[in-house]
Order: sequence, then C-alpha cells, then structure tokens
Amino acid sequence: MPVRRGRHFLQIPGPTNVPDRVLRAMDMPTIDHRGPEFQELGREVLAGCRTVFQTDGPVVIFPGSGTGAWEAALVNTLSPGDRVLMFETGQFATLWRAMAERLGLAVTFVPGDWRHGVDPAEVERRLTEDAAHAFRAVMVVHNETSTGVVSRVPEIRKAIDRARHPALFFVDTISSLASIDYRHQEWGVDVTVGGSQKGLMLPPGLGFNAISERALAATNTARLPRSYWDWQEMLRPNASGFFPYTPATNLLYGLRESLRMLEEEGLPRVFARHTRHAEATRAAVRGWGLELLAADPAEYSSSLTAVMMPEGHDADAFRKVTLERHDLSLGAGLGKLQGRIFRIGHLGDFNDLMLMGTLAGVELGLRAARVPHQGTGLSGALDVLSRAVHA
Ligand SMILES: *Cc1c(COP(=O)(O)O)cnc(C)c1O
Repeated sequence: MPVRRGRHFLQIPGPTNVPDRVLRAMDMPTIDHRGPEFQELGREVLAGCRTVFQTDGPVVIFPGSGTGAWEAALVNTLSPGDRVLMFETGQFATLWRAMAERLGLAVTFVPGDWRHGVDPAEVERRLTEDAAHAFRAVMVVHNETSTGVVSRVPEIRKAIDRARHPALFFVDTISSLASIDYRHQEWGVDVTVGGSQKGLMLPPGLGFNAISERALAATNTARLPRSYWDWQEMLRPNASGFFPYTPATNLLYGLRESLRMLEEEGLPRVFARHTRHAEATRAAVRGWGLELLAADPAEYSSSLTAVMMPEGHDADAFRKVTLERHDLSLGAGLGKLQGRIFRIGHLGDFNDLMLMGTLAGVELGLRAARVPHQGTGLSGALDVLSRAVHA
C-alpha cells in the first residue's frame, strides 16, 4: 500500500466522514450503564432524536446496523403471512423485501426501473383495489441510496389517505435523515427506520425506529417472533433514560455531540447545505457530459448523486483509479447496477471545499481512466456554489 498523507476522502453515501468533534466526544471511558451519569446521557439522546425525526413520539435506539432497525420495524408490528406492499426502487428496497419474505410476510413487490421513486398514483391504485384491506403495511425507502432517487413521502401518505386504507406506513430514512427534510409526525408515518453512519455523522453501529401511536398499538397483536428488537422491552427502561441491555455507550456519546451539532446549525440550514452540494454535483455531471441515473428532477437526492458510466467503460475500474491515485472512495453500483454507475456521496459533515476536492478527484479519475467527458464539470459546480446564498 502506498503511503497516504492528508485526509482520506470518504465520499461513499455512508458511512460518512465523522467530524473531529464527534470522535473526541467518543474518546471517553465507558461508564456504568445503570448509573446516574448514564441516565443523563440516555435522556438527552432519546429526547434529541425526536427533534431529528421531527416527532413528539418515542424513538428507540438499538445497538445494531440499519438492517437491524428494518427488522425491528417489521417484527414489532406484523404477523406471519401478513400482506405488505413494497416498491422496487433499487437495491435497498430489494434487500428490505428479501428480509420481509424471510420473516414470513407476503410481499407484493411493485416493479421499478431503478431510476424513479415510488409513484404515489400507483400506491393509490394498489390500495384502492385492495377493498378487503388485506395489506397491513406500505413500505417505502425515502432516499434510495443505490440510485440517488428520493420518493415523495408526503404525497405517498396522501395517496394512502385518498384510498382510505388503514395500512401502516413504514419509511426507511437511513440515508436521508439529517440530510433531506423528513417529518415523521407531520407526514403521518408509522415507523421510520434510521441508522447512525450517514447523515448523523456517526460511525456505524446504531439503528433507530421512530414509532407512531398506531404502530405501538400494533405490538399488542403482532405475532412475528421478537426478543432483542422488542420495542416494549426497550421503551420501559427508556422512560427513565436507561436501556434493557448494555447499550453502545460510546456511540451514544458521539450521538449526543452530533445532535448538538445539528441543533447549532439548525435543520433547515442542514438541508439547504445538502441541497446546494447536490445541485453543484449535478452541475458538474452535466458539465462532464455524463448522465444522471435519477430520471426525474422532482426526485433528485440531496445526499448522493449516481452517475452513469458511458457505454464500454467499467465504473469499478474508474473507482479503483480514484482510490489508488487520489485516496478518494466513491460508491459502487449495487446489485444490477454494478460496474454501470458510480455514486458520489455528499452527505453528513461536508462543506463546499470538500465537495470541490471530491469533484476534482472524480475529474482526475475520468482523465486517468480515459473515460470520455467534457471539461466544464468543475466550473459548473463552482458557479452553483458561488451563486448560493449562504444562510
Ligand atoms: C445504508 C442503508 C441501509 C443499510 O444499513 P446498514 O447499516 O448497512 O444495515 C438500508 N437502507 C438504506 C436506504 C441505506 O442507505
């Protein structure tokens, strides 16, 4: 391995760069998780999570990956054989569906082209057809990290309401939370799934569920087996700031710091920063003459941009060049997109100059890998950044 100097550019769409403030906050002795000092920490992070999910209701924090939080959402609310409606927006939706099937749910998986989000009209049509109300839940990935496409959650909620359907509404916000506007309560979501290692600027290791009253009530009748992921087991000690088993104490120190950082910046400014970086990135892609994977401008992601590789060029060979020459990690094409796209992560602890460094690394890689492109990518991005009003 060559010697590296300066910072590694971790521009995959999660895990993201962990700010020094968070790293320092975690560099602490682990404390007794049954003692008063922990209780204060537990209370602060559990309350702070409500702000980020934009809810007055409970948010539970599991030691685990986002995948664990997916499972928690399902096993607490559903029973074997329950019918659920899911949408093929990309690789993460496909993985969540596979999990639902392995757990014994009967999934209707609406096919998609991996370039569009969930179509609210399709949600309305499927639910209106289901006059017997067989579907127990509708499950949607807010920001499909494999494609850089955002589904319009408020419009999907309205579609469910127009169909007058009682299905629970589950949303995966693992790569949109604290990057793209998201409102658990106002948007009428029943379970929101989150993870620590993307917009929250933490290392991997925490999974979150924001829970509505209806979802909580569903635990009384849900018969899927659950133990580790049981919300009720978690919520009882959470009421006084504690956890039912050993929590990821040092990650919670980090979470306390990241929540404070988000509060200092203010969520509207956090979202505006991500919007600006996404616009600048798209300007660069256009300036290179390359194509975005996301087909509909109303669904562009602010946390990552997926770029199509020109015919005859391998995106993974290109990514290998950017990593070896410039210590820049870009996201790979996942599932059926492997080798055909690369993804630029621009979420989390990120600023204008980090973005320009990233985009310069992409252009150097395009040159080195001899990928045909035009030369106005970087200036296009600079134009967006210099026009932006910095709040
Ligand atoms: C990263 C991600 C996941 C998986 O999270 P893990 O922490 O890797 O288990 C699920 N859904 C989306 C949308 C993601 O971005």
